[in-house]
Amino acid sequence: MQDFDFEQFFQAETGLKLKKDVALSDYSSFKIGGLARYFIEVTSTDQLIKAVSAVSSRRFPFYLIGGGYNLLFDDIGFNGLIIRNKALAINFHPEQGLLEIDSGSDLQQVVRFAISKGLKGLEFLAGIPGTVGGAIYGNAGAFGQSIGEKVSEVLIFSRDRRLITLKQSELGFGYRFSNLKKDHQVVLKVFLAVEPGDKSEIERQVKDYLEQRERKHPPRSVACAGSYFKNPVLPDGQKVAAGLLLEKSGARGMQVGGAAVFHGHCNFIINLGGATARDVKELAHRLQEMVHQNFGLWLEEEVIFVPADASML
Ligand SMILES: Cc1cc2nc3c(=O)[nH]c(=O)nc-3n(C[C@H](O)[C@H](O)[C@H](O)COP(=O)(O)OP(=O)(O)OC[C@H]3O[C@@H](n4cnc5c(N)ncnc54)[C@H](O)[C@@H]3O)c2cc1C
Repeated sequence: MQDFDFEQFFQAETGLKLKKDVALSDYSSFKIGGLARYFIEVTSTDQLIKAVSAVSSRRFPFYLIGGGYNLLFDDIGFNGLIIRNKALAINFHPEQGLLEIDSGSDLQQVVRFAISKGLKGLEFLAGIPGTVGGAIYGNAGAFGQSIGEKVSEVLIFSRDRRLITLKQSELGFGYRFSNLKKDHQVVLKVFLAVEPGDKSEIERQVKDYLEQRERKHPPRSVACAGSYFKNPVLPDGQKVAAGLLLEKSGARGMQVGGAAVFHGHCNFIINLGGATARDVKELAHRLQEMVHQNFGLWLEEEVIFVPADASML
């Protein structure tokens, strides 16, 4: 399809104006990535549906991103349309004890909303960067809890462009896993269960979690995408900290080009400035081999690599 045709078609279908040749490094906390051929930011569920409908009706490659906190973009960019989700509405349904949240809402916005209404149950999300859609995709969590446990249902825009409601049990939540990882569909809205609670107790718990995170995680100024590897699960079901395996294997201080193992926690690969996706992947591979040699375990990436020719179609 000619560039001009696609731009015209997309604008006619959606009323939205595309950007071209957008630096993906500006949309990933890793600060890595080439140019997206096309880029659009949507600010409502309606716009998200229109954008996905338009590209999928023409089978034009697209990839949906939230905050970009768990992504490693390709050095050569993305050869299709990147849709950035900023649909932000949150509503509380007291009779059902549910928050109805647009998938582009920031998790911290959700935590603040819950505090303002004196609703408990979501405190563990404090400090996890990203959108609710991204959190559902990877079942984000901390302090022994994950978002999947709080899901009542999720509204999906399916590959064949239908609105479908999926119940918690249909989403197959596991450790940093949901069925969306097998069948990449678009999450439009998420319904999370909350309970009335004591506002000052909720605030205290949130503050405590944020302080604990500050001690463990790299400061915000450090470019990374969170824990690079998942914690491996042994055959007896026991989870082992990937950071510890890496540290014991001698990962501290390792570096490839601009990518390095964070000195404070070996499961964070950081961009020292000028790192490429190639540097990160090469360093990650060396780390996997070291841990395999020492412990016979192959670490699986938690960070998601987005190749230039990826597509959610
Ligand atoms: C400093 C730091 C600390 C972190 N700490 C934690 C932590 O404690 N716990 C944890 O679990 N994670 C943590 N992470 C990782 C990250 O915050 C989570 O993975 C988060 O859920 C990513 O959300 P996002 O909106 O940025 O998703 P993105 O990175 O933009 O996308 C991730 C994936 O989700 C998909 N996706 C996004 N939105 C949708 C949607 N609406 N529908 C369908 N698919 C969608 C994307 O296509 C992509 O495949 C951390 C990251 C950083 C940088």
